Amino acid sequence: MSIPLVYIDSKNEIGSVSILRELGIDIAHGTLNQSHRVPLNELSFEHCANDSVTIICSTGMIFVDIRDSGDCWLRATLRPGDGALTIPSKIFRRILPGLAGVDNVVLEHSSASAISRFARFSTDADERLNCALPYHSTRELVCELCRDFFAAGWVTGTGGSISIRYGNRIYMTPSGVQKERISPDELFVVDIDGHILSTPGKKSHFTPKLSDCSPLFLHAFKQRNAGAVLHSHAYSCNLVTSLCEGESSFSISHQEMIKGISGHGYFDELVIPIIENTAHEHELANSLGDCISKHPKSCAVLVRRHGMYVWGRTWEEAKRHGECLHYLFDIALNMKRLGLNYKTPPIPVGVSIQNDCNGWERRSDKAGANAGLSKPYKHVVFDIEGTTTPITFVKDVLFPYARKHLAEFLDETAATQRTQNDVAGVRRLAQSEGRHLPGHEDVCEYIQDAFFADRKDTALKELQGHIWEAAYESGAIRSTVFADVPACFSRLVHAGIKISIYSSGSRSAQRLLFQHSDKGDLRGFISCYFDTKIGNKRDVDSYREIALSLGVDSPDQILFVTDILEEALAAKEAGIHSILSSRPGNAQLPSSTFKVITSFDEL
Ligand SMILES: [Zn+2]
Repeated sequence: MSIPLVYIDSKNEIGSVSILRELGIDIAHGTLNQSHRVPLNELSFEHCANDSVTIICSTGMIFVDIRDSGDCWLRATLRPGDGALTIPSKIFRRILPGLAGVDNVVLEHSSASAISRFARFSTDADERLNCALPYHSTRELVCELCRDFFAAGWVTGTGGSISIRYGNRIYMTPSGVQKERISPDELFVVDIDGHILSTPGKKSHFTPKLSDCSPLFLHAFKQRNAGAVLHSHAYSCNLVTSLCEGESSFSISHQEMIKGISGHGYFDELVIPIIENTAHEHELANSLGDCISKHPKSCAVLVRRHGMYVWGRTWEEAKRHGECLHYLFDIALNMKRLGLNYKTPPIPVGVSIQNDCNGWERRSDKAGANAGLSKPYKHVVFDIEGTTTPITFVKDVLFPYARKHLAEFLDETAATQRTQNDVAGVRRLAQSEGRHLPGHEDVCEYIQDAFFADRKDTALKELQGHIWEAAYESGAIRSTVFADVPACFSRLVHAGIKISIYSSGSRSAQRLLFQHSDKGDLRGFISCYFDTKIGNKRDVDSYREIALSLGVDSPDQILFVTDILEEALAAKEAGIHSILSSRPGNAQLPSSTFKVITSFDEL
């Protein structure tokens, strides 16, 4: 059963069953149960119905024009015996006689009043919509972008390609043509399943061929609902994959242009996966499809020593993504050329790192390179209180602040879900200890006592973290870190060593502390935060969990720096090396075999 389908705005663009399916329309053998005849002139205006309607042609020939998702009329020609079209309620349609003298149509729908005529556009607007404007504008857009991208070096030497979706039609450049000279009638049109709807005419010297990229394009259209996909053969896309030889992705952070990639901010690490090239482009389709589904956040895939596929929800977004990524690849390549490391955060102003490192290679990005440490660690985990930050800050600033402002904070934020969750968590904690807290005052009193005793229970720490968050954000408090911390962090990160924090304060409190420090925002140096959700700091299992979370081959690739002997012992038992920190204001350390440092310059 085949029903001829054609687009009115461009008669050489046919329709397809998959387009009907996308619109929710069924084609079936038409045996109607409650059929009745309706005069055609009642249905010849654009309308929709409250119900799905099945249409069958009993005599002559009728045209069923269906408005597609690109606001174009898709015309189905129905003759007796051709079967029936079942059109869902919200799809706009009109039915016209295909032959003179045909004046009625057979319909089936659940109730006689189900059809509501609905004039969607004025006759003028409808004419304008259908006078080949979408058809031409999309075709012309593809050609215009081809010229721009040729000038940018993305589609030279007939390489690269562009495809833009308009409604249910996807316009694609053919294979092996000079992209900058292509004309609007030389494009292929395919549906979402890759069926060809329109083939460009043959030329005396050239038979147009659908691009080998088409299956790859379709993955982005189908899996990501892309509006446009660009394939670039730019020099920088190719070279950047060699910069990441042996790696399955390219990553960069701390660049303004990262913001141009949807869903990313300046501090985010942008990761673009890389797949291996194949002899023929169509052989890439499977690995590209897998790669797209494995990296749901990514808007692009690099192909080693070949180029890049990049997409967006609209052609404008795809173009912006393409421009930002090419810029970032250029930056990475040039930074590498200058001996700079494009993967690490900038060194804070005023931090003189070249003077306080012994034999440290400033811009080495070799993982595990020695930053002056006696062993090439991959991770250094720092405690906060008494290690990066004076105990006095926590004891004399943070804790008293939380106690002093507890009641006020609970009052002001009582209506928020977060505070309600925090209070519920505290009540559960009290209940687990056999304490019942009937009123608001009882809750406050319980928390005050717990804060005073510096209890480390997660529920209490969460609430405390939220009080501090408000204080940091309002500028009421600012954290103190020791003067040698930024330089040490920078030195380690630039030597390829990752920095993590393990502290009893909640992870969000830790992040805030390093964000609002008196030495500037240090978050860029820190890869991971661990709090007591992973376990008590004196419990050996906590350190085993941390080693697993950091993904090291062996725990001895981790160094832990703390001021508490019991914590160092627990870490040691888990196979992690420890160093004790002796800072002004810390309690006297009991004697032990651990190395003791008084400044991070000794690391
Ligand atoms: Zn290619």
